[in-house]
Amino acid sequence: MPASVASNKVVSIHYTLTNDDGDVLDSSSGGEPLAYLHGAGNIVPGLERQIEGKSVGDKFDAVVPPSEGYGERTGPAPQAISRDAFGDVEVEPGMSFVIEDDDGNQTPLWIVDVEEEHVYVDANHPLAGETLHFAVEVIEIRDATAAELAHGHVHGDGHDHHH
Ligand code: ZN
Repeated sequence: MPASVASNKVVSIHYTLTNDDGDVLDSSSGGEPLAYLHGAGNIVPGLERQIEGKSVGDKFDAVVPPSEGYGERTGPAPQAISRDAFGDVEVEPGMSFVIEDDDGNQTPLWIVDVEEEHVYVDANHPLAGETLHFAVEVIEIRDATAAELAHGHVHGDGHDHHH
């Protein structure tokens, strides 16, 4: 029986992500496939759920609503902060960073606009509120190693690391 996608498998996929308008937002085409640890929340929940049970060679389209993707857009409009706060760091729209408060709570923020004096940051993921359209091909399925399971992510070629 051929392997199928299940928890604790390392799954390699080629994918192209488009929005409702058909604009390509991201794609592995022309590069290495994306390898991830299935069942560990490495990819958006709606895509992970729809890959479950697939086999090598399967090609399919997965439509993922915001609730199973990057969430609905919430909270205040993007906030302006002084560009000086970034020092010499080159900032541009699309970059993300993490702020930490005095209690150690971490919040990711995305830069949405850069002006001469101010940088506008948003707490929403850039794809929040978007319905995601994935065209997927399953390339490889293998068992995860003990270390990968312990860490909750893939240790691929050239991605070995020590924690
Ligand atoms: Zn690791």
